[in-house]
Amino acid sequence: MNHQNHASIPEIIEDVKSYLEYLKTMGIEAVPVSGKGSEKKTSDSSPLPTVGLTLEEIRKELGNCKRCKLHRTRKTLVFGEGNPKAKLMFVGEGPGYDEDVQGRPFVGKAGQLLTKIIQSIQIQREEVYIANIIKCRPPQNRNPEPDEIAACSPFVLKQIEAIQPKIICALGTFAAQTLLKTTAKITALRGKLYELEGTKVIPTYHPAFLLRNPEKKREVWEDMKRILDYLREDSEAD
Ligand code: URA
Repeated sequence: MNHQNHASIPEIIEDVKSYLEYLKTMGIEAVPVSGKGSEKKTSDSSPLPTVGLTLEEIRKELGNCKRCKLHRTRKTLVFGEGNPKAKLMFVGEGPGYDEDVQGRPFVGKAGQLLTKIIQSIQIQREEVYIANIIKCRPPQNRNPEPDEIAACSPFVLKQIEAIQPKIICALGTFAAQTLLKTTAKITALRGKLYELEGTKVIPTYHPAFLLRNPEKKREVWEDMKRILDYLREDSEAD
């Protein structure tokens, strides 16, 4: 249903009613009346996905997403790809030019480096799952903005819940800060193990940063070894 073009009045009323019920469930009783600057609410604009979904259901829930302004400039929504039962998951920032064109995460220059980083610990790219905090490319690859992260990050959390990886490698500042709900710098965060609802998280430098600062590859190698050690310990404990 697309309210911009075809919705009937009863459909709109139904939609508003269910949205208000949702807000009430979330403990929000009052709704601001000014729509200035906000995105139109369509069936692809509900603020949060429901819980306990499969990856296919999460993709379906995203639909032709218009929850933030990035839908206006994106070519393709980049959902994520890989093994739905991956023990290791990588979370990046958001699609760049190549990803936007191909509809796949990490396929440009930074992506090729990520593939090599994964292979450096004798794991194939197909064995892991790769996703991003935001699913649509920001214009000129600018940094994601807070409203875009707020609109999109619930979906990567749902993907994590569906996959239930043993460990997540957060690539770069935005992934680390969003998953760990912190404003600390990546230099301070990287290399240590954190926890996100029972799943280990290890932040490391983003491959695009490594392309500009190749001397930092050694630290990422340390982080990869930590990931491998953790996965080995975990499989021995099983
Ligand atoms: N950078 C990211 O953070 N994600 C991608 O998918 C590609 C580049």
